Amino acid sequence: MSPNQPVDPALSLAALLEDDHPEKRKVSEWARENLDDERLFERDHRSEFWREGWQRCADYGIQGLVIAPEFGGSGLDLITALLRFEGLGVGCRDAGLVFALSSQIWTMQMALDRFGTDAQRARYLPGLVRGEQMGAFTITEHEAGSDAFALTTTATPIDGGYRLNGHKAWVSLSPVADVFVVFATTDPALKRWGITAFLVDADNPGLEVLPPRQKMGMRTTPFADVVFTDCEVPADAVLGNVGSGAGIFSTVMESERAFLLAGSVGQLERQITETADYANTRQQFEKPIGSFQAVSHAIADMKVGHEFARLSLYKAAALQAAGTPSMMAAAIAKLAASEAALEGSINSVRVHGARGYVSEFGVERGVRDTLGGVIYGGSSDIQRNIVARLLGLPKGE
Ligand SMILES: Cc1cc2nc3c(=O)[nH]c(=O)nc-3n(C[C@H](O)[C@H](O)[C@H](O)COP(=O)(O)OP(=O)(O)OC[C@H]3O[C@@H](n4cnc5c(N)ncnc54)[C@H](O)[C@@H]3O)c2cc1C
Repeated sequence: MSPNQPVDPALSLAALLEDDHPEKRKVSEWARENLDDERLFERDHRSEFWREGWQRCADYGIQGLVIAPEFGGSGLDLITALLRFEGLGVGCRDAGLVFALSSQIWTMQMALDRFGTDAQRARYLPGLVRGEQMGAFTITEHEAGSDAFALTTTATPIDGGYRLNGHKAWVSLSPVADVFVVFATTDPALKRWGITAFLVDADNPGLEVLPPRQKMGMRTTPFADVVFTDCEVPADAVLGNVGSGAGIFSTVMESERAFLLAGSVGQLERQITETADYANTRQQFEKPIGSFQAVSHAIADMKVGHEFARLSLYKAAALQAAGTPSMMAAAIAKLAASEAALEGSINSVRVHGARGYVSEFGVERGVRDTLGGVIYGGSSDIQRNIVARLLGLPKGE
């Protein structure tokens, strides 16, 4: 796949310097025209996934951005893919759809594409890229969240394969997924060295997706727990090698941290424009509210957060595209982008006053949609832990 595809340094620089890069603008314009769903308010209220929107994205090539042409993708380099994904965030108001796409592309597909055998990739990637199939990535358990390697789902060797037993929590896309990347331990005594990743089809009789859970934001991404009960899989369902699951997870997490928030950064860009427009037109005390420094500074802070988040994302992506260690950069990017998106959404509500707080105007949805970003993919505290550890500070108890 493309992570190793060379990126022209001029492209990385252009991505950093051109706020309105043509690769980004092209997708944001397409998304405005094709993903502006008038039923979004209702779907958010009902926690309803937009399958039609998913298919439109697949037809446009979003799911296949970094997948090789032999599997139906465009085989783009990581910087171009990031620019396009950012554009998707600018143009698409359905943050749940953008998150669902991010989740599949940067975790499930990334794991499959990077660690799968040719046969596994040929079996699953074309359907995922075409939008006919969906994939979920599941490691978290109720008692193993930030401490993901404390997982207790077991994979017991049987004749010709493995039998999985366990309960996975908070799995994005699970109610609609056709295939799951599942992390389980083949030997609990080995702790992280006993963890193995598996590909499990949703129609396996040992796999049960529990009823979808209601959540605060990104309500248009379906989300549920998944239970494995004597779920038998063949030996060729192993992704990578037996015992290499922790390594696969860490690699995927590093990529995820650099890319998962690209859509949110795009969404923040749109919020800044809309909040500034509102502050320029809303009059109080016979002046536009944007003329009050308290209001203009709130919007300026949104822009500062956005700028720092953007630069951090592109730095992490450029390092990964070059095959250079990016753990520090990826942790900073995830932290900066998720916190900027949340702070920006809160500021937008403040500037819009009651219109910001009332659901029908769609501003408050931004706060609900962005709060999850400081939790999933490693919480902000976990990103700070990574930064501190890389600075040589001792590991906390
Ligand atoms: C919207 C959303 C989508 C998700 N999608 C998926 C998915 O598709 N697949 C999947 O497997 N999981 C998914 N998750 C689960 C997610 O990965 C976990 O929620 C996350 O890892 C945190 O685990 P936890 O919720 O158990 O919180 P906990 O780990 O219990 O953390 C609770 C609090 O304690 C803090 N904390 C914990 N440990 C430390 C520490 N060492 N140092 C400092 N602070 C600490 C945390 O920062 C947090 O504030 C999703 C979660 C959300 C919210």
